[in-house]
Amino acid sequence: MSKYVYTFGNGQADGRADMKNLLGGKGANLAEMNHMGLPVPPGFTISTEVCTYYYDNGRSYPTELTAQVKDGIAYIEKLTGAKFGDNQNPLLVSVRSGARASMPGMMDTILNLGLNDKTVEGLIKRSGDARFAYDSYRRFVAMYGDVVLDLKPQTKEEHDPFEDMLEAKKAKAGVKYDSELSAEHLKELVNEFKNAIKERKGMAFPDDPYEQLWGAVGAVFGSWMNERANVYRRLNKIPESWGTAVNVQAMVFGNLGNDCATGVAFTRDPASGEKVFYGEFLVNAQGEDVVAGTRTPQQVALKASQTWASNHGIPEADRKSKYPSLEEAMPESYKQLLDISDKLEAHYKDMNDIEFTIQDRKLWMLQCRAGKRTGMAAIRIAVEMVEEKLITEEEAVLRVDPNALNQLLRPIFDNEKLKSEKPVARGLNAGPGAATGRVVFHASDAEAWAAKGEQVILARIETSPEDIRGMDAAQGILTQRGGMTSHAALVARQMGKVCVAGCEAIQIDYTKGTFTAGNVTVKEGDWISLNGSTGDVYKGNIPTKPSEVIQVLLEKTLDPKQAPTYQLYAKLMGWADGIRRMKVRTNADQPDQCRNAVAFGAEGIGLVRTEHMFFEGNRIDSVREMILAPDLAGRNVALGKLEPFQREDFVGIFRVMNGLPVTIRLLDPPLHEFLPHGDAAVADLAKKLGRTPAEVEAKVESLHEMNPMLGHRGCRLGVVYPEITEMQARAIFTAAVMVKKEGIEVHPEVMVPLVMTPGELKSQGDVIRRVADEVFKAAGVSVEYLVGTMIELPRAALCADQIAQQAEFFSFGTNDLTQTCMGLSRDDSGRFLPHYVASQLLPADPFEALDQTGVGQLVEMGTSRGRQTKPKLKVGICGEHGGEPSSIIFFDGAGLDYVSCSPFRVPIARLSAAQATLMHRKG
Ligand code: PEP
Ligand code: MG
Repeated sequence: MSKYVYTFGNGQADGRADMKNLLGGKGANLAEMNHMGLPVPPGFTISTEVCTYYYDNGRSYPTELTAQVKDGIAYIEKLTGAKFGDNQNPLLVSVRSGARASMPGMMDTILNLGLNDKTVEGLIKRSGDARFAYDSYRRFVAMYGDVVLDLKPQTKEEHDPFEDMLEAKKAKAGVKYDSELSAEHLKELVNEFKNAIKERKGMAFPDDPYEQLWGAVGAVFGSWMNERANVYRRLNKIPESWGTAVNVQAMVFGNLGNDCATGVAFTRDPASGEKVFYGEFLVNAQGEDVVAGTRTPQQVALKASQTWASNHGIPEADRKSKYPSLEEAMPESYKQLLDISDKLEAHYKDMNDIEFTIQDRKLWMLQCRAGKRTGMAAIRIAVEMVEEKLITEEEAVLRVDPNALNQLLRPIFDNEKLKSEKPVARGLNAGPGAATGRVVFHASDAEAWAAKGEQVILARIETSPEDIRGMDAAQGILTQRGGMTSHAALVARQMGKVCVAGCEAIQIDYTKGTFTAGNVTVKEGDWISLNGSTGDVYKGNIPTKPSEVIQVLLEKTLDPKQAPTYQLYAKLMGWADGIRRMKVRTNADQPDQCRNAVAFGAEGIGLVRTEHMFFEGNRIDSVREMILAPDLAGRNVALGKLEPFQREDFVGIFRVMNGLPVTIRLLDPPLHEFLPHGDAAVADLAKKLGRTPAEVEAKVESLHEMNPMLGHRGCRLGVVYPEITEMQARAIFTAAVMVKKEGIEVHPEVMVPLVMTPGELKSQGDVIRRVADEVFKAAGVSVEYLVGTMIELPRAALCADQIAQQAEFFSFGTNDLTQTCMGLSRDDSGRFLPHYVASQLLPADPFEALDQTGVGQLVEMGTSRGRQTKPKLKVGICGEHGGEPSSIIFFDGAGLDYVSCSPFRVPIARLSAAQATLMHRKG
C-alpha cells in the first residue's frame, strides 16, 4: 500500500528534513523539528504525490487516502487528548499548503477548522472565553468561504463579502475595532456569514468536520494552479510538476488573551545579513496577522524595539507601555526563542526563518525554513558563517545564488546629494538599494506604466499575493503597513527589489490617488525616491551613484579598507577562484570594457566582435566604400583606410589585457547590415562616394537576403573576399608586434566564425598564417598566436573531429548554435517564445539558459569529437549562455576550459564556475 500521510508530534516523525520533494519544505521541517526536540503542535503531512495524482486523475484522490487521513486525525487526537467534532474538548486544526520551494502567501491556508455550532460550545468550555470562541468561529467561516467556496474578491474593485458584513456590524455596534465586538456580535456574524454563503453558493456551510477537512484539502491542492501561484512559479522557475503537500496540524492559539502572541523571526537580519536575531510579533493575534501586514507588529528584541521607536518618533515611555518588545513582555519565551534560534542555526547551518505562537506563555514552533534574504545578506551570512566555523568555504560558495551578486553592483544614493534632501517619511529598510520612479498605487497600473517604458514605484497600504506582477514591474515598493516579514518585504527581497515597508508616516488614499506625509502630498505620477537600505522616502528624483564594489573595482574612488561590502564580496570571490576549474573570460570590444572586465576578474577575452569597431566615428564610410567598390583594387583602397583604425583598437585592447589571451573574431555579419536604408541616407552616401543614388540603391538591392542569418556572413565573407580577412589579420598582428615592442606580452587568438567545413577554416587559416609570417618578418619580431574557430552550426559540431585538424581552439557560439539547432530565429522568436515558456512547452528561453537536452548534446559532441583529434584542444564558449549560472554548470560538465561573458557578468560566472566544480566533484 502506498504511504501518502506522514505524521509528526511529541518528538517523533515519519519524515525528515531531506524529504522536501515528498513532504514540501514545511512538512519536512516540521518533522525535523520534532527530531530536534523542539515544541511543535502534532499533525500530519499529505505528500506531494497526492497533488500529482489529483491533477493526473481529474481532481480525485488515491483510494487509500481516506483511511490514512482518518488515522492521521486519530494520531493528533491521541497526542492532544482532544477529539475532532467533540462538543467537550474539540480538536481544531490548521490546513496549510507547503511546496518544495517556499512560495510566500501564494497558496491558501485555513485556520480553526473543525468548528461548528456544537464544537464551539466545547471551545467555550475549554477556553472559558465565549468571545474568543466566536471570534475563531467567524474567522474560520470567512476563511472557508473565501478559500474553499471561492468568495474571495478577484479584482481591485470587488469587496470581500465577509469584510463588508464585519464593517457593517461594527458600524451598527458603534465601535471602531474588531476587538470591541462582543461574543454576541460575533455569534450573529457567524450566522450572517453562513446565510451569505447559502445565498451565493446555494449550499449550506458544512458542519461535519471531515467534510470541512476534505473541502480544505481540495482547496489547497486547487490553489497550486491558481493564477497568482502560476505567475509566481513562472517568475521563480518552479516546475508545475512538483505539486504541493498539505499540512494538517493541531491549532495553537496566539489570540487567547494577553499571555498569547504570534510572530515570525529570522535567526539573522534578512536584509543586511547581520548576526542579530530579528523578529516581530503581535500580542493576542492569530496566524496570518503578522505576515498580512494589517497591523504593524512589535519587535522581539529590546534593542530593535528602541531603534524602531526612535525611527517612528515614539517616546520611550510610550514604546514601553504600548509597544514593548517580547524581551520585556514575555522574557521566558524570548530566552527560549533565542535558544531555539541557536539550535536551528547549529543544526541547519543556515539562517532560518521561523513562525511561532505563544499560547498561555507556552512557546510553539509552527515553521522553520531557510530564510529568504537579499543578495547582500546572502553573501554576508555565508562569509560570516565560515568565520564562525559553522560552514566551510566550499559550503559558503555553494550557498550564494550567483545572480545575487547583481545586487552588489546596483546603484546606491549619493550620500553627498542625500545630505541636501530631507526624507518625507521613514519606514523599514526591507530591501536595500536605491530606487527612483513615478508613484502608482495599483499593481495593475505599475504593470501598465512599466510596459510603456515608465520607471515606477508601487505604493500600497499593504501588498498581497495578487500584486506580484506589479511588484515585479516596479523599481521599488513602498508600503504603509506591515513589518520586515510582511508580504511586500518578503517578496521584494526575493525579487531583489528595493523596498521600504511599514512606512506608517504616510497616508495612502487610493480613491484620490495620493499619499500624504505630514504636510507633503504626493500624487500619482510624481517622482519619489526610496532608500531601501535606510527606509527613507524622498519626494523627487534623487541621483544615484555606483555601489561600493563598483567604486572600489572600476572607479577606484574608494579604499577597499573603507568598504565592508566590498570586503565580503572579495572574500567570497577569492574562495570561488580557489575552487573553480574553468577559466572566465569576457566578451568586450573596447579597451574600457576590457579594463572593467579585468577588474571584475576576467582572465582573458573570449570574444572581440570586430564588426562593432566598424561603427565607431565615421569609419562606417570606409566600410561602405569597401562594400560598394566595383573591384578588388577599389576594395583594397577602402580596406587600407580601415586597417589603421582596427590596428589602433587592437593596440588598446592588447595593452589593457597585458599578456592575457585575446580572442579576436573576424568579421561576421552580412555586408548589407552596414549599408544605408531609405532615400535620404542612400543619397547622402552616394554624394560622399561620388556615385549616383541609383548605383548605391542597386548595390543595396543586390545584397538583400531573405534569410541573412543563414546567408552570406561569417567565414563565407572571407572565403569570397579573402582581402577582408587579410586586412583584419594584418591589423591584429601589426598591433601585436607594436605592443610586444613596448614590452607587453600579447597572446592573440584569431577566431573564424560560422564554419561548417574543415576546408573553409583551412582557407581562412592559410590567409591568417601567411599574413602573420609577413608581418613578423617585416618587424623582426614574432608573437605566439593561435588560429581557431567558432562552433555555431550543427554540422561543425558533428564534424568537429575533422574541423579540429585545422583548429587550435574551439569556441562555442551558442547563440547561433541554439538558433540553428532549434530552427529558432534569434530576431523573430520573441513573438512566440514567451508563450512557449508560459505554457511550459520549453522550460526556459533557450537564448537565455542553454537548452541542455538538445543544444547541449551538440556542445558535448563537438567537444569530445574535437578532442578525439586533438586531446588537449582548448574549448570555450562565448555565446550569451557564458554568463548564465545553470548553463555554466552544464559547460563544466561538458569539460570546457573557459566561459566568456559580458563584463558585468564576470563575477557571476566566477561563482557559478566554482559551484560547478563543487557539484561535479561531489558527483
Ligand atoms: C554566438 O553565436 O553565440 C556568438 C557569440 O556570436 P554572435 O552572437 O555574434 O553571432
Ligand atoms: Mg554567432
